[in-house]
Amino acid sequence: MLDVRDLHVEFRTRDGIAKAVNGVTCSVAEGETLAVLGESGSGKSVTAQAVMGILDMPPGKITGGEILFQGRDLLQLGEDERRKVRGREMAMIFQDALSSLNPVISVGEQLGEMFVVHRGMSRKDARSKAVELMDRVRIPAARERVGQYPHQFSGGMRQRIMIAMALALEPSLIIADEPTTALDVTVQAQVMDLLAELQRELDMGLILITHDLGVVADVADKIAVMYAGRIVETAPVRDIYKAPAHPYTKGLLESIPRLDQKGQELYAIKGLPPNLTRIPPGCAFHPRCPLARDVCRTDEPPLYDVPDGRGSACHFWQEALHG
Ligand code: SF4
Ligand code: MG
Repeated sequence: MLDVRDLHVEFRTRDGIAKAVNGVTCSVAEGETLAVLGESGSGKSVTAQAVMGILDMPPGKITGGEILFQGRDLLQLGEDERRKVRGREMAMIFQDALSSLNPVISVGEQLGEMFVVHRGMSRKDARSKAVELMDRVRIPAARERVGQYPHQFSGGMRQRIMIAMALALEPSLIIADEPTTALDVTVQAQVMDLLAELQRELDMGLILITHDLGVVADVADKIAVMYAGRIVETAPVRDIYKAPAHPYTKGLLESIPRLDQKGQELYAIKGLPPNLTRIPPGCAFHPRCPLARDVCRTDEPPLYDVPDGRGSACHFWQEALHG
């Protein structure tokens, strides 16, 4: 359904050109969940925004690649056609529901607006659609609450409203960018479960962007790990937990808090992600990598084939996998 090929995105900054996305290739099939994982600044949000078509204006610029969606290259469409795709066929859920919702319009009206604008429904019918949607995302007492304003809902409930909004027109692809990051841990799990359930029910494709490997284990089919604007590892989700094939993924896994290690200091990957205007030569991860050696400072690793349909952009993936 979605095929991103060799995508490149640059940003003009005061420091120079920031290479935010450097040759990303990935795909999502119908009903499939792809988790995109990485620290902030790894290019995962920018990739999502490029797919949604909400960044192609200064200072951001798509400088290469293709985004094939149901057979069409989205980068070749005009803004009008693009907007149609965005409303009806793909939708995005952001981290911060409060700033995405209009504070002075009731949630029912905001949900109903989708049907008024895109389906030409009457206000009255749109309102009952809104109640239906609120039920669907399991907001209790939807009929009574449909006239309430965003601030009258808890953070978790607001995020459910965002999900409802994204689902309204039954898109075939949803992109969720850190959808639970702003929520309490217990609420996070509930919202993630809901999203996974709806995704199965409606057989949508889902791209789940997160910095937290802990939240995707039960939800995703496959994972793409990003670093400095590149995909450094791809694998079915189970394989990555069992045995990562890239030192960066390994570091991320070891940074997940575990209940049995309460109070212990977590392993964190040393150092910081690179400044995207000055990505290190060779393997961009080399200044932080415990396995780095000379070749890593000069030769950029391609995405090597790893058995079982996996990929790793590490010259020493076998060592990472078995070490
Ligand atoms: Fe580390 Fe070298 Fe592999 Fe990069 S290529 S992840 S620096 S071992
Ligand atoms: Mg982000």
